[in-house]
Amino acid sequence: MKNISTPLLNWYSHYKRDLPWRHTKDPYKIWLCEIIMQQTRVAQGLAYYNKFVERFPSPSALAKASEDEVLKLWQGLGYYSRARNLHAAAKSMKGKFPSTYEGVRALKGVGDYTAAAICSIAYNMPYAVVDGNVYRVLSRVFGIDTPIDSTEGKKQFAQLAQEQLDQKHASDYNQAIMDFGATVCTPQTPQCAGCPLSKQCIARRDNRAEELPVKEKKTKISTRYFHYIYAVQGDFIYLHKRGAGDIWQNLYELPLIETPTEEKPKVAWLKGAKLAEAGTLKHVLSHQVIYGTIYKVQLPPSVKLPSEFIKIKSADLKKYAIPRLVQKLLANIKKI
Ligand code: SF4
Repeated sequence: MKNISTPLLNWYSHYKRDLPWRHTKDPYKIWLCEIIMQQTRVAQGLAYYNKFVERFPSPSALAKASEDEVLKLWQGLGYYSRARNLHAAAKSMKGKFPSTYEGVRALKGVGDYTAAAICSIAYNMPYAVVDGNVYRVLSRVFGIDTPIDSTEGKKQFAQLAQEQLDQKHASDYNQAIMDFGATVCTPQTPQCAGCPLSKQCIARRDNRAEELPVKEKKTKISTRYFHYIYAVQGDFIYLHKRGAGDIWQNLYELPLIETPTEEKPKVAWLKGAKLAEAGTLKHVLSHQVIYGTIYKVQLPPSVKLPSEFIKIKSADLKKYAIPRLVQKLLANIKKI
């Protein structure tokens, strides 16, 4: 069996990235970092990590905040269920971050990967992480074609990752393989020349690095058409709080009409008032492409909107957590 831990630890001691959460062993901060960094670029996540640590320095501080405040601080980062889970998990901690693997794994929003990352990095517990970087490095070095999203593949890679883990240096080893995948063994054009694993790498030998890892299923992408109404009534505008069962749960948005195609929306409560279109933006999420259009309309004082809409002073809009698409569309309103 090949052993990649020694060269990876060696590589890490020279090339590890200097990130703020690498200067702490506080499991709470490492958890914050792990949740924030899921599906997020380091450069973007860094600012959010600093904001969260400063505003909520402990589990109790986070637990005491309102969900609206947590979502507002999270605004712009996407995948808002992470913020809601973060808040719910902090409440469940009763002031103390769990100290066992089982306790960490039981936190809302924490799966196998995150539990292994927190327990190894904070407590040096011998749990191997398996994320996209680890799948890539292992599939290439060991030349494994088993799809990483199949039941068999998940089992095979989890076992291999655990076998390769340096039990005494679990914290450094896990961070080493993830950093290595993110900076050297990258999805496109990996830096095979000069790679410390190149001599034992099957993908390098067979010149098929970019074919690995293999995925079974293609993600199904749906297209949606959102029409937002910036309805002005004197000093006031209207908002709507999104509900469960769809994207952006509990975030605020302008009154929305969703149509199955690009057609213009028909809105009964507008009673024939003229919509001034102020632009369309394409917004790409992991499973959806949204075409968002914004319209401005001046409502006479006599018009009453359905009760699902909240009437706010337009100057107060900045106090609400709103999705990035709506933020960008609102910038267009200023232009008309
Ligand atoms: S030789 Fe290339 S493909 Fe193999 S581990 Fe190194 S960077 Fe990745």
